[in-house]
Amino acid sequence: MISIVEKDISKLATVQTPAHTKYYADIYALPDLIEVNRYAENKHLKLQVIGKGSNVLFTKEHYSDRLFIRLKKEFNSFNLINNSVQIGAAFLLKKAGTRLIEKGYKDFAYMCLIPGTLGGAVRQNAGTTQEGEIRDNLLSVRLFDTQSSEEVTLSNKEMLFSYRNSLVQQEHDRYIVLSATFSCGDPVNDIEGLKKEVENKKKMKREKEPRGYSFGSTFKSRLHERAAWYYLDQVGLRNYAVGGAKFSQKHPNWIINYNNATAEDVMALISKAKDRVNKQFNIELIEEVELI
Ligand SMILES: Cc1cc2nc3c(=O)[nH]c(=O)nc-3n(C[C@H](O)[C@H](O)[C@H](O)COP(=O)(O)OP(=O)(O)OC[C@H]3O[C@@H](n4cnc5c(N)ncnc54)[C@H](O)[C@@H]3O)c2cc1C
Repeated sequence: MISIVEKDISKLATVQTPAHTKYYADIYALPDLIEVNRYAENKHLKLQVIGKGSNVLFTKEHYSDRLFIRLKKEFNSFNLINNSVQIGAAFLLKKAGTRLIEKGYKDFAYMCLIPGTLGGAVRQNAGTTQEGEIRDNLLSVRLFDTQSSEEVTLSNKEMLFSYRNSLVQQEHDRYIVLSATFSCGDPVNDIEGLKKEVENKKKMKREKEPRGYSFGSTFKSRLHERAAWYYLDQVGLRNYAVGGAKFSQKHPNWIINYNNATAEDVMALISKAKDRVNKQFNIELIEEVELI
């Protein structure tokens, strides 16, 4: 029997605004998932999976309408066989990337640059502009379908990936990613050179990014003629603060929790940004962060 407990979930999101839930469970294996799915259904709760929490904002301080879960153990797997790799949903993307680069598989440099779990990354089709994204080498995804309580395997095509989007996102709360399989291609000969190149990319990304509690990009960046930060800058939101949250001075598309911000502070910034950009440019900014 799995244990369902009340929990302070503030630290489950990297932006760390205060939040508490009446229902929380750690999920160690597939039968646990089937059990919590039934529990949620009986109690009319929404099943809410959280990975590393690097792309979420808890918009409420108290939840009693959702059962929050995190995948562990059985889902924290990494199996490299011949030239393909199956990665579990709970496995950290950076760790997966590092292991693959160490074997000479150059296509996975982007994984070394993104915080988060494989599950969250598949849902968001996470990636970086220069290095690539989840869909590039993906062969298939194993999913748990909360409607049928069964496992399904979908191909890359069936996952309907597009820029920071996938079927898992489009179908809202229906699917939970269990694992994904990627083809690795052939390893390069100069592994030391590849490792050096990736270390440089990590350094460059760190230098460009603001410090502090954050969920990375607030809005999807590449949906319009210019990147989202450009519009935010133009409407005067660089370094603009509400309560303990502000749009970063260094990167206006990032919101930083710099002084005990609440979700309300962050939501006020998001809504101000959408409003101003819409009025001045007639553009609708779309959140990249998942508002929960
Ligand atoms: C400092 C920083 C830098 C970042 N840089 C980048 C970047 O370069 N490129 C980029 O794309 N993103 C970036 N991000 C955003 C974020 O790291 C990615 O979107 C990441 O893939 C989210 O993974 P996660 O495990 O943290 O997901 P979470 O934040 O935990 O969840 C995000 C969404 O995915 C869902 N989810 C989580 N696990 C599963 C699962 N197993 N099955 C189904 N749904 C699931 C959640 O319900 C939620 O809706 C950055 C964030 C930060 C804080």
